[in-house]
Amino acid sequence: MKKIALVKTNLFVCTVIILGFAVTSLISYHSNQGLFKQETENVSNLTAEGIYHKIESIFTKPVSISLTMANDSLLKQFLSEEAERKDEKEYIAILQNYLRTYKDKYGYDSAFLVSAETNRYYNFNGVDRVLFPDNPENEWYFSRLDSNQEYYLNIDNDEVATADNDITVFINCKIRDEQGKVMGVVGVGFRVNYIQSIFRDYEERYHIKAFLVDDDGTIEISTSQTGYEKTELFSDIGYAQLKEQVLEGKEEIHTFWYSGGGKKGYLVTQYIPALSWHLIVERDTTVEQKEIQQEICIGAFIVILVIILVLYTINKIIHRYNNEVVRLAIEKEKKHSGVFQLETEKIYENIYEVDLTHNRVASEATEQYFKSLGVPEDTPFDKALYIIAEKQIKEEYRKGYINTFSPKNILKAYEEGKESLCYDFMISNDGGQSYYWMRITARIFYWDEDKSVRMFVYRQNVDEEKKYAKQLMEKMELDSLTGLYNKAATQYHIQHALEEAPDRIYAFFIIDIDNFKQVNDNCGHAFGDLVISGFANILRRQFRSGDIVGRIGGDEFVAFITVPSREWATDKARSLIQELHHEFSDQSARWKTSASIGVAFAPEDGKIFDVLYQNSDKALYHAKEKGKDGFALFGDK
Ligand code: GH3
Ligand code: MG
Repeated sequence: MKKIALVKTNLFVCTVIILGFAVTSLISYHSNQGLFKQETENVSNLTAEGIYHKIESIFTKPVSISLTMANDSLLKQFLSEEAERKDEKEYIAILQNYLRTYKDKYGYDSAFLVSAETNRYYNFNGVDRVLFPDNPENEWYFSRLDSNQEYYLNIDNDEVATADNDITVFINCKIRDEQGKVMGVVGVGFRVNYIQSIFRDYEERYHIKAFLVDDDGTIEISTSQTGYEKTELFSDIGYAQLKEQVLEGKEEIHTFWYSGGGKKGYLVTQYIPALSWHLIVERDTTVEQKEIQQEICIGAFIVILVIILVLYTINKIIHRYNNEVVRLAIEKEKKHSGVFQLETEKIYENIYEVDLTHNRVASEATEQYFKSLGVPEDTPFDKALYIIAEKQIKEEYRKGYINTFSPKNILKAYEEGKESLCYDFMISNDGGQSYYWMRITARIFYWDEDKSVRMFVYRQNVDEEKKYAKQLMEKMELDSLTGLYNKAATQYHIQHALEEAPDRIYAFFIIDIDNFKQVNDNCGHAFGDLVISGFANILRRQFRSGDIVGRIGGDEFVAFITVPSREWATDKARSLIQELHHEFSDQSARWKTSASIGVAFAPEDGKIFDVLYQNSDKALYHAKEKGKDGFALFGDK
């Protein structure tokens, strides 16, 4: 696979995985967030409700008891008498007893009464002290004396004798006379430590924080603080901006999701009219939400790891697959080209390609092949032709080979519209010890890619074909009865010899059997054939292998040989006459032959076959005339 395709595949896989992850993460994040928020809201709401009811139940009773005390007519009467009886022991004892009774009966830590008339502070021990307005510790009393509130709460940590710094809530109820004038404040005090333990219990179980705050936002009770410390709840935390909303809403339960100052969370607030305080339940979700985000980050990290792993694996697989495909393709191609080559080699010894325009070989395979023939690398093609011709081709064919396949000739042939050229020659593979026939066929074509004229060259071993053709030719040339050249072959070879070496002296003999007709007539045609055949054999033996000996008529033969001189030829004719005296016989017949010979000389008597034939025939005529069984030279009388 190409690199770009691989990159595209990788990008596609990455996109699919990332999109898949992003979508599933988003869905799961939203659903997790939804569930988490739902759960937070449910837990916080239920917790707030639970705490609200518990606190209400804790405070309702002391408030109603304190109110009962404040509206007690007997107590009012006592107070109205205070001015006159304040120094009576009995008077004080009655009040002391009254307060102790309430304290003990309901198990409170304190029961008290403050007289507006004398500012005396009565409790179960009698007159505890006198409150002075200039003492800041008495602010709880003097500051609220003129307000319209029926009762109010305050928190102290050392008011009770045995308190040991325990936090104590005091319910302060105003006692009014019939005209509505404040006569004093009465109420009970009890420790709130167990409120804190309730908060703590809820906090541990539900992971919330509970606060009781007053209308100013000051914490009155929390697990770690009380109003005594005057800590502002809404300072420096995530929900500071909610202060007004929280403290103003007194009618119903309010819930808020807040976020700020690196904090996130949920608030449930409810006003407790009995205490004039706000219950605030806070669920800080910062950590959980961070955990969810961390989980997403871990998920993303894992996905990135998975992507890397998947990409790595995909790349590996694709690479392996590609290599396998390439390997199989190459194998298939090799197999195919192997078969192709095998089949082609049955026809052609070699096929190679040449770029004639650029005078060079046109393929790696051709380069290799030329190298194997001893042509150095990067040799121009026209030079390579000479090297190959020199090394392999039989001398007489070299020129033809080079001329035929020179780039110049091929380009010229291409311009003339020729598409192929062919040349047969003899070639040697063993350094000239033996030669065989080779045919080169060149297919010329135009290669558009680099605008060159090229040729495919097929080297085909045609030795068998040539030998067969030669045999066929020889067969066609021979006379079937005698095995000598027939008339056409005789004429061809004589003419060819005359043209090849016109300067030599040749003797043209016509040899005719004397009275042959009589052989046929007396002994039969078959015996006549036997005589012709036997006569030809004798004649053949009289000449060398390179001499041309043929049968040109029924009983007429020609021998054409180079001779040193007329005299020599005359002697040869004389000797022939002798040699051709022969008796042929079979079971039924017997015949003695003699022959007459006419001789003409080339170039003296003629330079071409026809003239020599005519002139020697004239000489033969003379020989026959002279009585046969003899010879005559053309020109002799
Ligand atoms: P001369 O001495 O003048 O040559 O007389 P001749 O009888 O030999 O006459 P000629 O050469 O004219 O005759 C040749 C004869 O050879 C004629 C023909 O019937 C015969 N002949 C030609 N071809 C064949 C052949 O193939 N086989 C046989 N048996 N006879 C042939
Ligand atoms: Mg004859």
